[in-house]
Amino acid sequence: MNTYIFLKEISKDYGKKKNKITVLKNINLNICKGEFLAIMGPSGSGKTTLLNIISFLHKPTSGEYYFKGVNTSSLNSSAINKLRNKNIGYLFQNHFLFDNYTSLENTLMPTEYNDLKDKNYFLDFSNKLFSKLNLIGKKNKYQEQLSGGEKQRVALSRALITENEILVADEPTSSLDLENSNKIIDYLIELNNEGKTIILATHNRDIATKCSRIIYLEDGEIKWDKSKNLL
Ligand code: ADP
Ligand code: MG
Repeated sequence: MNTYIFLKEISKDYGKKKNKITVLKNINLNICKGEFLAIMGPSGSGKTTLLNIISFLHKPTSGEYYFKGVNTSSLNSSAINKLRNKNIGYLFQNHFLFDNYTSLENTLMPTEYNDLKDKNYFLDFSNKLFSKLNLIGKKNKYQEQLSGGEKQRVALSRALITENEILVADEPTSSLDLENSNKIIDYLIELNNEGKTIILATHNRDIATKCSRIIYLEDGEIKWDKSKNLL
């Protein structure tokens, strides 16, 4: 098996001294190429923190993170940024879209750092994404003109535009109605079948059961970890 992500005894604290809270406790996790992994657990259990560490947005307090066999603890921030831009598309729980940009401009933003393909390629691909994500007609709208669910889908198109091998999505359907939620999950399944590795956090059991593996976090620990054939 081709291991993409290996977290070894990862812990994460926030705050100092008497304000210190330990959010992740001694996490061991192996994620292979092509997996479709759902992270479940109550609010505050550490799902976002875990996704932020996997995506190199936060550093663990202790433990080691091996990415494609490389121990990332020794890499400087420029090497880490390169690794993230090349490998990971990230959908933030709070979208983090830019208000003064249209949906299309927000989507194309990560392509500024990608000099492998030309502008027309990304314009064509953004049209495909807008169609797949039910955003036709929203391309030239500013973020204040969009609903929460539409913003969430624009943020997802931004996470997918550079076609990185790994998609990390923090509650990708939390603002969506059932129809859009199903549409998005069907598209993620299609991408996973084409080879993309997907790691998402969700509260929704119906969505999690469509993934090939579920881990359940509670109080910063992995309480259980099940592959689909064992569910
Ligand atoms: P989840 O995504 O499962 O709801 P989070 O990872 O967002 O959980 O949060 C887990 C815990 O860590 C919460 O108690 C939260 O208050 C705390 N936490 C998260 N981010 C920070 C931060 N930047 N500073 C301090 N505490 C934080
Ligand atoms: Mg969260």
